[in-house]
Amino acid sequence: MGARGALFRGRALYDHPGTEELFVQAMRENCAFQYARCPEYRAILDQAGFRPEQLQGPEDLGELPPIPTLYFKRHHLSSMAGKHALFHTTSSGTSGRRSEVNFDFGALLCDLAMSLRACGTHGLISPRPTRYVILGYQPHRGNHMGVMKSAFLSTFLAPAVKRTYALRFREGEYRLDQEGLVEELRRCARQRHPVRLIGFPSYLHFLMQELEHRGLRFPMPSGSKILLGGGWKQFYRQQVDKPQLYAEVKERLDIPEAAIHEVFSVVEHPIIYWDCPRHHFHIPVYSRVLIRDVRTLKPLPYGQPGLVNLMTPLLKSAPLMSILTDDLGVLHPGESCGCGCTAPWLEVLGRVGMTEIKTCAAGAEEYQRGERE
Ligand SMILES: [Zn+2]
Repeated sequence: MGARGALFRGRALYDHPGTEELFVQAMRENCAFQYARCPEYRAILDQAGFRPEQLQGPEDLGELPPIPTLYFKRHHLSSMAGKHALFHTTSSGTSGRRSEVNFDFGALLCDLAMSLRACGTHGLISPRPTRYVILGYQPHRGNHMGVMKSAFLSTFLAPAVKRTYALRFREGEYRLDQEGLVEELRRCARQRHPVRLIGFPSYLHFLMQELEHRGLRFPMPSGSKILLGGGWKQFYRQQVDKPQLYAEVKERLDIPEAAIHEVFSVVEHPIIYWDCPRHHFHIPVYSRVLIRDVRTLKPLPYGQPGLVNLMTPLLKSAPLMSILTDDLGVLHPGESCGCGCTAPWLEVLGRVGMTEIKTCAAGAEEYQRGERE
C-alpha cells in the first residue's frame, strides 16, 4: 500500500503532527506520478523549476506550484486513460464553465475510507430507518454534479424509508417542488422514523420562511438531523445568516443546533470538510491548506486573509494535488476555536473578483503596469 492509502486509512481524523511525514510522502509520490504521466503538468513544473523530489518536508508543500481552479475549467488535464476513471463529477458551472473530475479506483477506496471515518466520527452512521428530504437535485442520468452525487450517497448512511427531492426532474428540466416538501414534512412530523434533511443552506432557509409565512410548525421525531453543504458559493453568502437559520430550524422543526452539521467541498478538491460543534471547519489529515497573498502568492501566516490554496494527494487521475481557488479565506490555529480540536480551521470570507484572479495569473508585474482589466 502506498503512502496515499496509509494516509486515508489512518484512524485519527485531525492528527496533523502524527501524519505530517505520511502526507508529504503521499504528495511526493503523487507528484512524481503526475509529472511522468501528464505532459501539460510537467511543463508547468519545469517552467517553475520544480521537481517532485523537492517535496521532502511540510515546509516544501508551499513550493509546489498551485494550479488555479480557473485553469481546470478551461483545460481538462488527465494522467490516466478514460477506462480507469470510475466516478465522474462536475462543478455546477453556473458561469457556463465546468471542471470535470474523474476518480481513479484507488481514490474511490480512499474516498470511501475517509467518508466512513468522518461520518462515524460525527455520529451519522445509524441502523435506524430514516426518511430523507433532499434540499437539492433529484438524481438524473445526465446530471454529474458533485453536490447531487454527495447528497444521494449520504442517504445510505442510515437505511432509507423514503427520499423526497426539492428539485425534481420533470419534462426535461429541474423544478422546485416547494409544495411537495411541505407535505412531506407534514407526514414526517406524524410518524416515528427520524428525518434527515440534506442539501443547500439557502433552500433550507427558503423552506423555513415558507413554513413561517404559512404559520406551520412540524416538530420532527427525535434523532432527526440536518446535513448542509453544496459548495463555497452558498456558504459564504449564508454565513452571516447561520445563527438565524439555526433559530428558524429550532422554531419550525424543533431540531436543535447540535443536530445540524455542515460540510463543504469543491469539485477539484473532493475532501469533505465538516464543521465542529462551534461550526468551524478544521482541516482533516487528508489535506493541508495554505493562505496566499493575493498579489505575490507568497504563503501567509495564521490570521491573515488571502487566496485559499488546497492540497491533497487523493486523486491520481489528474494533477490536482495543489489547487488555488478564487476564494478568500483565513486560517486560524486549532486552539483558537475552543472545541478541543487542535487542527487549524479555515474561515472562508468570500470570492475574489475576476480582476484579482487575472492579477494572480498574470503576476505582480502586469498589475503594476496598470494593465488590469
Ligand atoms: Zn472547533
